[in-house]
Amino acid sequence: MQALAAYACHPDASRGRVHAEPAPVGRNAFQRDRDRIIHCNAFRRLEYKTQVFLNHEGDLFRTRLTHSLEVAQIARSLARNLGVHEDLIEAIALAHDLGHTPFGHAGQDELNACMRAFAPAAGGFEHNLQSLRVVDELEERYAAFNGLNLCFETREGILKHCARRHARLLGAVGERFLNGTQASLEAQLANLADEIAYNNHDIDDGLRSGLITVQQLQRLEIFAVHYAQVRRRYPNAEQKRLVSEVIRAMINTLVLDLTHQTQARIADLRPSSVDEVRAGPPLAAFSEGIRAQADALKKFLLDNLYRHSQVIRMTAKARRIVRDLFQAFIEDPRLLADEYRREDPVAQARAIADYIAGMTDRYAIREHRAIFVMD
Ligand code: MG
Repeated sequence: MQALAAYACHPDASRGRVHAEPAPVGRNAFQRDRDRIIHCNAFRRLEYKTQVFLNHEGDLFRTRLTHSLEVAQIARSLARNLGVHEDLIEAIALAHDLGHTPFGHAGQDELNACMRAFAPAAGGFEHNLQSLRVVDELEERYAAFNGLNLCFETREGILKHCARRHARLLGAVGERFLNGTQASLEAQLANLADEIAYNNHDIDDGLRSGLITVQQLQRLEIFAVHYAQVRRRYPNAEQKRLVSEVIRAMINTLVLDLTHQTQARIADLRPSSVDEVRAGPPLAAFSEGIRAQADALKKFLLDNLYRHSQVIRMTAKARRIVRDLFQAFIEDPRLLADEYRREDPVAQARAIADYIAGMTDRYAIREHRAIFVMD
Protein backbone atom coordinates (compact mmCIF):
# COMPACT_ATOMS: atom_id res chain seq x y z
CA MET A 1 0.00 0.00 0.00
CA GLN A 2 1.23 3.49 -0.84
CA ALA A 3 2.11 6.04 1.86
CA LEU A 4 -0.96 7.68 3.30
CA ALA A 5 -1.26 11.43 3.05
CA ALA A 6 -1.71 13.45 6.25
CA TYR A 7 -5.30 14.24 5.21
CA ALA A 8 -6.26 10.57 4.69
CA CYS A 9 -8.37 8.52 7.09
CA HIS A 10 -6.29 6.15 9.17
CA PRO A 11 -7.80 2.91 10.52
CA ASP A 12 -5.95 3.22 13.83
CA ALA A 13 -7.34 6.71 14.32
CA SER A 14 -10.92 5.76 13.42
CA ARG A 15 -13.74 7.48 15.23
CA GLY A 16 -14.77 3.94 16.03
CA ARG A 17 -17.72 1.57 15.85
CA VAL A 18 -21.05 1.96 17.62
CA HIS A 19 -20.50 -1.35 19.46
CA ALA A 20 -16.97 -1.70 20.85
CA GLU A 21 -15.04 -4.65 19.39
CA PRO A 22 -11.43 -5.81 19.72
CA ALA A 23 -9.19 -4.56 16.90
CA PRO A 24 -8.90 -7.04 14.01
CA VAL A 25 -5.79 -9.21 13.72
CA GLY A 26 -3.97 -9.46 10.37
CA ARG A 27 -6.01 -6.76 8.63
CA ASN A 28 -6.91 -3.19 9.38
CA ALA A 29 -10.30 -1.88 10.53
CA PHE A 30 -11.29 -0.68 7.03
CA GLN A 31 -10.38 -4.03 5.49
CA ARG A 32 -12.64 -5.66 8.07
CA ASP A 33 -15.45 -3.32 7.02
CA ARG A 34 -14.95 -4.20 3.37
CA ASP A 35 -14.95 -7.91 4.19
CA ARG A 36 -18.16 -7.60 6.23
CA ILE A 37 -19.83 -5.80 3.33
CA ILE A 38 -18.84 -8.47 0.80
CA HIS A 39 -20.17 -11.22 3.07
CA CYS A 40 -23.54 -9.62 3.82
CA ASN A 41 -26.89 -10.64 2.29
CA ALA A 42 -27.68 -7.22 0.83
CA PHE A 43 -24.44 -7.33 -1.16
CA ARG A 44 -25.34 -10.64 -2.81
CA ARG A 45 -28.76 -9.32 -3.72
CA LEU A 46 -27.16 -6.52 -5.77
CA GLU A 47 -26.57 -9.11 -8.47
CA TYR A 48 -30.30 -9.29 -9.14
CA LYS A 49 -31.16 -5.63 -8.87
CA THR A 50 -31.61 -3.34 -11.84
CA GLN A 51 -29.29 -0.51 -12.71
CA VAL A 52 -31.22 0.87 -15.71
CA PHE A 53 -32.24 -2.26 -17.61
CA LEU A 54 -34.18 -5.02 -15.93
CA ASN A 55 -31.98 -7.78 -14.69
CA HIS A 56 -33.47 -10.37 -17.02
CA GLU A 57 -33.41 -8.25 -20.19
CA GLY A 58 -29.91 -9.30 -21.14
CA ASP A 59 -26.83 -10.88 -19.63
CA LEU A 60 -24.47 -8.07 -20.63
CA PHE A 61 -26.21 -5.16 -18.94
CA ARG A 62 -24.93 -3.77 -15.67
CA THR A 63 -26.58 -4.78 -12.46
CA ARG A 64 -26.13 -3.04 -9.14
CA LEU A 65 -23.41 -5.57 -8.34
CA THR A 66 -21.29 -4.97 -11.42
CA HIS A 67 -21.91 -1.22 -11.04
CA SER A 68 -20.64 -1.36 -7.44
CA LEU A 69 -17.52 -3.25 -8.58
CA GLU A 70 -16.86 -0.64 -11.27
CA VAL A 71 -17.26 2.16 -8.74
CA ALA A 72 -14.80 0.37 -6.44
CA GLN A 73 -12.26 0.00 -9.26
CA ILE A 74 -12.42 3.69 -10.18
CA ALA A 75 -12.42 4.78 -6.54
CA ARG A 76 -9.34 2.71 -5.76
CA SER A 77 -7.43 4.31 -8.63
CA LEU A 78 -8.38 7.72 -7.29
CA ALA A 79 -7.31 6.73 -3.77
CA ARG A 80 -3.88 5.67 -5.01
CA ASN A 81 -3.46 8.83 -7.05
CA LEU A 82 -4.31 11.02 -4.09
CA GLY A 83 -2.78 9.14 -1.17
CA VAL A 84 -6.00 8.36 0.68
CA HIS A 85 -7.01 5.01 2.17
CA GLU A 86 -7.70 2.46 -0.52
CA ASP A 87 -9.41 -0.09 1.75
CA LEU A 88 -11.77 2.54 3.10
CA ILE A 89 -12.71 3.87 -0.32
CA GLU A 90 -13.29 0.31 -1.53
CA ALA A 91 -15.57 -0.40 1.43
CA ILE A 92 -17.58 2.77 0.78
CA ALA A 93 -17.87 2.02 -2.94
CA LEU A 94 -18.99 -1.57 -2.44
CA ALA A 95 -21.60 -0.52 0.13
CA HIS A 96 -22.91 2.64 -1.48
CA ASP A 97 -25.93 1.03 -3.17
CA LEU A 98 -26.82 -1.63 -0.58
CA GLY A 99 -30.07 0.18 0.19
CA HIS A 100 -31.27 0.29 -3.39
CA THR A 101 -34.73 -1.04 -4.11
CA PRO A 102 -35.55 -3.43 -6.94
CA PHE A 103 -36.06 -1.75 -10.34
CA GLY A 104 -33.54 1.06 -9.96
CA HIS A 105 -34.71 4.62 -9.42
CA ALA A 106 -38.26 3.77 -10.40
CA GLY A 107 -38.53 1.45 -7.40
CA GLN A 108 -37.07 4.01 -5.07
CA ASP A 109 -39.33 6.81 -6.29
CA GLU A 110 -42.42 4.69 -5.92
CA LEU A 111 -41.45 3.42 -2.48
CA ASN A 112 -40.90 7.00 -1.39
CA ALA A 113 -44.28 8.02 -2.82
CA CYS A 114 -45.99 5.12 -1.02
CA MET A 115 -44.37 5.95 2.31
CA ARG A 116 -45.45 9.57 1.99
CA ALA A 117 -48.98 8.67 1.00
CA PHE A 118 -49.68 5.84 3.43
CA ALA A 119 -47.46 6.75 6.38
CA PRO A 120 -46.70 10.48 6.25
CA ALA A 121 -45.27 10.38 9.77
CA ALA A 122 -42.65 7.79 8.72
CA GLY A 123 -40.58 10.31 6.74
CA GLY A 124 -40.45 8.82 3.25
CA PHE A 125 -37.88 6.50 1.71
CA GLU A 126 -34.40 7.47 0.56
CA HIS A 127 -31.91 4.97 -0.83
CA ASN A 128 -28.82 6.55 0.74
CA LEU A 129 -30.38 6.44 4.14
CA GLN A 130 -31.49 2.90 3.45
CA SER A 131 -27.90 1.87 2.61
CA LEU A 132 -26.89 3.12 6.05
CA ARG A 133 -29.88 1.37 7.61
CA VAL A 134 -28.81 -1.92 6.01
CA VAL A 135 -25.32 -1.75 7.52
CA ASP A 136 -26.46 -0.24 10.84
CA GLU A 137 -29.59 -2.26 11.54
CA LEU A 138 -31.00 -4.66 9.00
CA GLU A 139 -28.27 -7.23 8.44
CA GLU A 140 -28.59 -10.07 10.94
CA ARG A 141 -25.24 -11.85 10.94
CA TYR A 142 -23.56 -11.16 14.24
CA ALA A 143 -24.57 -12.52 17.62
CA ALA A 144 -23.74 -9.39 19.58
CA PHE A 145 -25.36 -6.65 17.48
CA ASN A 146 -27.66 -5.82 14.58
CA GLY A 147 -26.10 -4.62 11.34
CA LEU A 148 -22.43 -4.83 10.43
CA ASN A 149 -21.11 -2.43 13.09
CA LEU A 150 -18.88 -0.60 10.60
CA CYS A 151 -16.40 2.16 11.40
CA PHE A 152 -17.64 5.74 11.50
CA GLU A 153 -15.58 6.58 8.38
CA THR A 154 -17.27 3.89 6.29
CA ARG A 155 -20.75 4.91 7.49
CA GLU A 156 -19.92 8.56 6.84
CA GLY A 157 -19.06 7.67 3.24
CA ILE A 158 -22.18 5.56 2.71
CA LEU A 159 -24.45 8.43 3.75
CA LYS A 160 -23.86 10.65 0.73
CA HIS A 161 -26.94 12.82 1.07
CA CYS A 162 -29.42 13.21 3.84
CA ALA A 163 -32.35 15.51 4.57
CA ARG A 164 -31.92 17.59 7.73
CA ARG A 165 -34.91 16.02 9.46
CA HIS A 166 -33.30 12.59 9.08
CA ALA A 167 -29.82 13.83 9.93
CA ARG A 168 -31.03 14.97 13.35
CA LEU A 169 -31.85 11.38 14.25
CA LEU A 170 -28.55 9.88 13.15
CA GLY A 171 -26.05 11.11 15.75
CA ALA A 172 -22.45 11.77 14.72
CA VAL A 173 -22.83 10.46 11.17
CA GLY A 174 -25.64 12.97 10.49
CA GLU A 175 -23.86 16.01 11.92
CA ARG A 176 -22.32 17.25 8.71
CA PHE A 177 -25.73 17.71 7.10
CA LEU A 178 -26.71 20.02 9.96
CA ASN A 179 -23.53 22.05 10.27
CA GLY A 180 -22.56 22.18 6.58
CA THR A 181 -19.19 20.42 6.88
CA GLN A 182 -17.74 17.79 4.52
CA ALA A 183 -17.11 14.09 4.61
CA SER A 184 -13.58 12.63 4.36
CA LEU A 185 -11.77 12.85 1.03
CA GLU A 186 -12.28 9.10 0.62
CA ALA A 187 -16.05 9.67 0.83
CA GLN A 188 -15.96 12.65 -1.53
CA LEU A 189 -13.99 10.68 -4.12
CA ALA A 190 -16.17 7.58 -3.86
CA ASN A 191 -19.17 9.77 -4.61
CA LEU A 192 -17.60 11.10 -7.83
CA ALA A 193 -16.35 7.62 -8.76
CA ASP A 194 -20.02 6.57 -8.68
CA GLU A 195 -20.88 9.34 -11.12
CA ILE A 196 -18.01 8.46 -13.48
CA ALA A 197 -19.05 4.81 -13.42
CA TYR A 198 -22.76 5.20 -14.06
CA ASN A 199 -22.50 7.85 -16.76
CA ASN A 200 -20.08 5.75 -18.74
CA HIS A 201 -21.70 2.38 -18.29
CA ASP A 202 -25.12 3.82 -19.07
CA ILE A 203 -23.72 4.98 -22.41
CA ASP A 204 -22.35 1.50 -22.97
CA ASP A 205 -25.60 -0.25 -21.97
CA GLY A 206 -27.67 2.35 -23.80
CA LEU A 207 -25.79 1.69 -27.06
CA ARG A 208 -25.93 -2.07 -26.57
CA SER A 209 -29.70 -1.87 -26.11
CA GLY A 210 -30.07 0.19 -29.29
CA LEU A 211 -32.03 2.88 -27.42
CA ILE A 212 -29.35 5.49 -28.08
CA THR A 213 -26.95 5.76 -31.02
CA VAL A 214 -23.39 6.85 -31.70
CA GLN A 215 -24.79 9.57 -33.98
CA GLN A 216 -26.74 11.07 -31.08
CA LEU A 217 -23.75 10.84 -28.79
CA GLN A 218 -21.62 12.80 -31.27
CA ARG A 219 -23.49 15.90 -30.10
CA LEU A 220 -21.64 15.58 -26.81
CA GLU A 221 -18.20 17.16 -26.72
CA ILE A 222 -16.70 14.57 -24.38
CA PHE A 223 -17.85 11.73 -26.62
CA ALA A 224 -17.15 13.42 -29.97
CA VAL A 225 -13.55 14.36 -29.11
CA HIS A 226 -12.61 10.85 -28.06
CA TYR A 227 -14.56 9.21 -30.86
CA ALA A 228 -12.68 11.25 -33.46
CA GLN A 229 -9.34 10.40 -31.86
CA VAL A 230 -10.10 6.69 -31.64
CA ARG A 231 -11.29 6.57 -35.25
CA ARG A 232 -8.19 8.33 -36.45
CA ARG A 233 -6.07 5.83 -34.59
CA TYR A 234 -8.04 2.72 -35.57
CA PRO A 235 -9.78 3.56 -38.88
CA ASN A 236 -10.65 -0.07 -39.59
CA ALA A 237 -11.87 -1.14 -36.19
CA GLU A 238 -15.42 -2.37 -35.88
CA GLN A 239 -17.97 -0.18 -34.10
CA LYS A 240 -18.19 -2.11 -30.84
CA ARG A 241 -14.43 -1.88 -30.34
CA LEU A 242 -14.50 1.84 -31.16
CA VAL A 243 -17.23 2.41 -28.59
CA SER A 244 -15.39 0.50 -25.92
CA GLU A 245 -12.18 2.46 -26.68
CA VAL A 246 -14.12 5.73 -26.43
CA ILE A 247 -15.63 4.79 -23.07
CA ARG A 248 -12.24 3.71 -21.83
CA ALA A 249 -10.79 7.08 -22.90
CA MET A 250 -13.66 9.02 -21.31
CA ILE A 251 -13.26 7.24 -17.97
CA ASN A 252 -9.54 7.91 -18.10
CA THR A 253 -10.08 11.60 -18.88
CA LEU A 254 -12.53 11.97 -16.00
CA VAL A 255 -10.30 10.14 -13.52
CA LEU A 256 -7.24 12.18 -14.47
CA ASP A 257 -9.11 15.47 -14.44
CA LEU A 258 -10.57 14.70 -11.03
CA THR A 259 -7.12 13.70 -9.77
CA HIS A 260 -5.45 16.89 -11.02
CA GLN A 261 -8.17 19.25 -9.89
CA THR A 262 -8.28 17.65 -6.44
CA GLN A 263 -4.48 17.77 -6.20
CA ALA A 264 -4.59 21.48 -7.00
CA ARG A 265 -7.15 22.10 -4.25
CA ILE A 266 -5.08 20.10 -1.79
CA ALA A 267 -1.99 22.12 -2.71
CA ASP A 268 -3.97 25.28 -2.13
CA LEU A 269 -5.61 24.39 1.16
CA ARG A 270 -2.94 22.08 2.59
CA PRO A 271 -5.19 20.11 4.93
CA SER A 272 -3.04 18.32 7.52
CA SER A 273 -5.67 15.95 8.90
CA VAL A 274 -8.99 14.43 7.98
CA ASP A 275 -10.65 16.80 10.45
CA GLU A 276 -9.28 19.71 8.43
CA VAL A 277 -10.71 18.08 5.30
CA ARG A 278 -14.09 17.85 7.02
CA ALA A 279 -13.98 21.47 8.16
CA GLY A 280 -12.91 22.96 4.81
CA PRO A 281 -14.59 23.41 1.43
CA PRO A 282 -15.13 20.33 -0.79
CA LEU A 283 -11.78 19.00 -2.03
CA ALA A 284 -12.76 16.46 -4.63
CA ALA A 285 -13.88 18.14 -7.84
CA PHE A 286 -13.62 18.14 -11.60
CA SER A 287 -12.25 21.17 -13.45
CA GLU A 288 -14.93 23.58 -14.65
CA GLY A 289 -14.62 22.48 -18.27
CA ILE A 290 -14.93 18.78 -17.52
CA ARG A 291 -17.71 19.41 -15.00
CA ALA A 292 -19.70 21.11 -17.76
CA GLN A 293 -19.04 18.22 -20.16
CA ALA A 294 -20.03 15.64 -17.53
CA ASP A 295 -23.23 17.59 -16.82
CA ALA A 296 -24.06 17.64 -20.53
CA LEU A 297 -23.55 13.88 -20.59
CA LYS A 298 -25.88 13.41 -17.64
CA LYS A 299 -28.53 15.55 -19.28
CA PHE A 300 -28.17 13.61 -22.51
CA LEU A 301 -28.75 10.33 -20.70
CA LEU A 302 -31.75 11.74 -18.88
CA ASP A 303 -33.39 13.04 -22.05
CA ASN A 304 -32.50 10.17 -24.36
CA LEU A 305 -32.12 7.03 -22.26
CA TYR A 306 -33.84 7.30 -18.88
CA ARG A 307 -36.84 8.97 -20.54
CA HIS A 308 -36.87 6.73 -23.61
CA SER A 309 -40.35 5.31 -24.13
CA GLN A 310 -39.10 1.75 -23.69
CA VAL A 311 -37.41 2.59 -20.41
CA ILE A 312 -40.52 4.50 -19.28
CA ARG A 313 -42.66 1.43 -20.03
CA MET A 314 -40.43 -0.70 -17.85
CA THR A 315 -40.42 2.01 -15.20
CA ALA A 316 -44.20 2.24 -15.16
CA LYS A 317 -44.54 -1.52 -14.71
CA ALA A 318 -41.94 -1.51 -11.96
CA ARG A 319 -43.70 1.32 -10.13
CA ARG A 320 -46.97 -0.54 -10.30
CA ILE A 321 -45.43 -3.66 -8.77
CA VAL A 322 -43.94 -1.70 -5.89
CA ARG A 323 -47.16 0.27 -5.34
CA ASP A 324 -49.37 -2.82 -5.43
CA LEU A 325 -47.17 -4.66 -2.97
CA PHE A 326 -46.93 -1.74 -0.58
CA GLN A 327 -50.65 -1.12 -0.63
CA ALA A 328 -51.52 -4.78 -0.17
CA PHE A 329 -49.22 -5.11 2.85
CA ILE A 330 -50.47 -1.89 4.46
CA GLU A 331 -54.10 -2.90 4.00
CA ASP A 332 -53.55 -6.42 5.26
CA PRO A 333 -50.35 -6.98 7.23
CA ARG A 334 -51.31 -10.63 7.64
CA LEU A 335 -49.89 -11.09 4.13
CA LEU A 336 -46.48 -10.44 5.65
CA ALA A 337 -44.26 -12.98 7.33
CA ASP A 338 -44.22 -12.60 11.13
CA GLU A 339 -40.81 -10.93 11.14
CA TYR A 340 -42.22 -7.94 9.22
CA ARG A 341 -45.33 -7.39 11.37
CA ARG A 342 -45.48 -4.46 13.78
CA GLU A 343 -48.09 -3.08 16.17
CA ASP A 344 -47.32 0.59 15.60
CA PRO A 345 -48.48 1.87 12.17
CA VAL A 346 -45.36 3.95 11.48
CA ALA A 347 -43.10 1.04 12.41
CA GLN A 348 -45.29 -1.21 10.23
CA ALA A 349 -44.85 1.08 7.21
CA ARG A 350 -41.09 1.17 7.77
CA ALA A 351 -40.91 -2.62 8.05
CA ILE A 352 -42.82 -2.95 4.76
CA ALA A 353 -40.43 -0.49 3.10
CA ASP A 354 -37.47 -2.50 4.43
CA TYR A 355 -39.00 -5.70 3.10
CA ILE A 356 -39.72 -4.28 -0.36
CA ALA A 357 -36.39 -2.44 -0.58
CA GLY A 358 -34.59 -5.70 0.17
CA MET A 359 -36.28 -7.53 -2.71
CA THR A 360 -34.45 -8.32 -5.93
CA ASP A 361 -36.25 -7.54 -9.21
CA ARG A 362 -37.28 -11.13 -9.73
CA TYR A 363 -38.34 -11.64 -6.12
CA ALA A 364 -40.61 -8.58 -6.34
CA ILE A 365 -42.13 -9.88 -9.58
CA ARG A 366 -42.67 -13.29 -8.02
CA GLU A 367 -44.17 -11.84 -4.83
CA HIS A 368 -46.48 -9.63 -6.88
CA ARG A 369 -47.68 -12.62 -8.83
CA ALA A 370 -48.15 -14.65 -5.65
CA ILE A 371 -50.37 -11.98 -4.12
CA PHE A 372 -52.32 -10.78 -7.16
CA VAL A 373 -52.60 -13.73 -9.52
CA MET A 374 -54.57 -16.89 -8.78
CA ASP A 375 -52.68 -19.57 -10.64
MG1 MG B 1 -24.28 4.04 -7.49
